[in-house]
Amino acid sequence: METEIRQTRRLGHFIAGKWEVSSEEFFVRTAPATGTVVAEIALGTYVDVERAVRAARNSFDLGEWPLLTAIERSTVLHRVADLIAMNLEGLAKLDSEEGGKPIRIARDDVRGSIALTRYAAGLALQMHGTTYTNNGPDYMGLIIRQPAGVVGLITPWNFPLLIMCQKLPFALAAGCTVVVKPSEFTTSSTAELVRLYQEAGLPDGVLNLVTGDGRVGQALAEHKEVDVLSFTGSTSTGRKVIEAAKGNLKKLSLELGGKAANVVFSDCDVNGAVEGSVFGAFFNNGECCVSQSRLLIEDSIADGFIGQLISRTNQLSVGNPLDDDIDIGALIHESHLKSVMSHVNDGQSDGARLISGGKRITHGALSSGLFMLPTILDEVKPESTLFQKEIFGPVLSITRFKTLTEAIELANGVDYGLSNSVWSNDINKVLKFSRAVKSGTVYVNTTIDAPVQMPFGGYKSSGLGREMGEAGFEEFTELKSISIRTNRMPISFPPDIGNL
Ligand code: NAD
Repeated sequence: METEIRQTRRLGHFIAGKWEVSSEEFFVRTAPATGTVVAEIALGTYVDVERAVRAARNSFDLGEWPLLTAIERSTVLHRVADLIAMNLEGLAKLDSEEGGKPIRIARDDVRGSIALTRYAAGLALQMHGTTYTNNGPDYMGLIIRQPAGVVGLITPWNFPLLIMCQKLPFALAAGCTVVVKPSEFTTSSTAELVRLYQEAGLPDGVLNLVTGDGRVGQALAEHKEVDVLSFTGSTSTGRKVIEAAKGNLKKLSLELGGKAANVVFSDCDVNGAVEGSVFGAFFNNGECCVSQSRLLIEDSIADGFIGQLISRTNQLSVGNPLDDDIDIGALIHESHLKSVMSHVNDGQSDGARLISGGKRITHGALSSGLFMLPTILDEVKPESTLFQKEIFGPVLSITRFKTLTEAIELANGVDYGLSNSVWSNDINKVLKFSRAVKSGTVYVNTTIDAPVQMPFGGYKSSGLGREMGEAGFEEFTELKSISIRTNRMPISFPPDIGNL
C-alpha cells in the first residue's frame, strides 16, 4: 500500500478495528510552508476516549495479544517494519508537509522508525524474569515480568512518526494494548502507521487511535482504566498530565522539554565542533527537544569560532520543506513563529547582540509560509530568558566561559536536563564533564546522535522515565514477585535467623 498525498485528508478515530471519520467538529490543518489546507482532523471527545480505552481494556483482559508467544508478537512487528519501509517516501511526505520539516529529515525519521520497530521486535523475545534459589532448600522466588496493561500514548508535532515509534512497538512488544493520541498538527503519519499495523494483522482492539487536541490527551491521562501513560510534549503540559493521572496513580513516562548546552573547549577539533554546533542548533528547524540551543564557548577561541559559525550558518538554505536540498523548513504554526521571534527581540532588550539572522521571511516565494532565518545571538547572559527558556526554533545563543568548573555550572544552570554536548580531545575533561552534567544524555564530540539501544530521557524538568533501550521497554512492564514455599510455612515472623 503506497501512502498518497491528496489535497485534503480527512482523518478520524480507529476504535476496535473500525475507522470513524465522522465528527461534529474538525481541526483544519494548513501546511506551514504554503498555508493551504492539507488535513481535517476529527476532534475527539471524552466519549471517544472512553470507547477506545474500553476496546483496549477488553483486548488486554480478554483478548489474545498478551497471551501470544513472543515470536508471534515479534513477527507482527517485523511485518510492520517491512510495511513502513515500503511506504518510506509517502510517510516522509506526510510529516514534511504537515510539520514543515525538511523532507531529508523526515526520511531519516522513517528510517529511524523502522529501526525502532525491529529493535522492539527483538526485545519481545528477550522479555524474561529472574529466579532466586539461594534462600534455603524450601524456598524458590520467581520474579516475573508481565505486560503492564492498557497504555495511553500522547505525542507532539516535531517528530510525529519517530516519537510514536519510540513508544508504540515497545508497548506492543511487551504485550500491552494501546490507545494513541498524536498531535492535532501532525496526525496523518500516525493514522497511516495505524493502517500499517492493521495491514500487518494486529488483532482488532489492540491498537486504537483517537484524534484531536489536548482535551483527548487530558481524558486519556485521567482515565482510570489506563495503566501506563507515556507522554512526550512540553514541560507545562507534562505537569497537567501528572495532575490528571493521579486518580489511579498510573505509571507515567514523561519526555518533556530541553535547553541543551553545546560546550566547546579550546582543545577540540574546531571544524568538527563548528559543524556540530550548526547541526545541533538548526536541525529540524531547531524544533527539537535536544536542540543544542546554548553554545558555551571557551573564551580563548571564541572570536575565531564564532566567525566560522556565522559563515557556515549563512550557507544553510531556508525553503519549501518538500524540496530535497533544503536545510531549514517552515515553523509549525503562526503563534509559535511569533513566540520564537518575540524571544529573539526580548533577548536583545536583555543585552544580547544579534549577529546573524533574526528575521521572519516576508518577501518572495516564502512569504506565504512560516519561515525565519537561522538566528545567532552573542553575549547572552545566564539569567536571561534566552538562556533559560526553551525557544524551540532556529535560534542559537552564545555565552563564553573560562574554566571547566564554570562550563559545568553554566550547562547545569537551567531547569531542564535532557541532553548536553561536549567537544574536547582531553578524555579527563570529557569524563569529568559527562559525570557532572545533569542530563539524561551526553554527546561527546558529536550531537543529536542516539542509536535505538541507548535509553533516552530527562533529569529535572525534562521528565520522568526513559524511552528506547531495554529501559524504555521496561516502562511498559510490571514485575511480580512470586514466593514459593516447597516444604513448610515459616513459623516465625520475621523468620528466625538463629545465631547469625
Ligand atoms: P504540547 O505539550 O503542546 O503537546 C503535546 C501533546 O499533548 C499533543 O498531542 C497535545 O495535543 C497533547 N496535549 C495538550 N494538552 C494536553 C493535556 N492537558 N493533557 C494531555 N495531553 C495534552 O507539546 P508540542 O508543542 O506538541 O511539542 C513540543 C514540546 O515537546 C517541546 O517542549 C519539546 O521539547 C517537547 N518534546 C520533548 C521530547 C522528548 O523526548 N523529551 C521530544 C519531542 C518534543
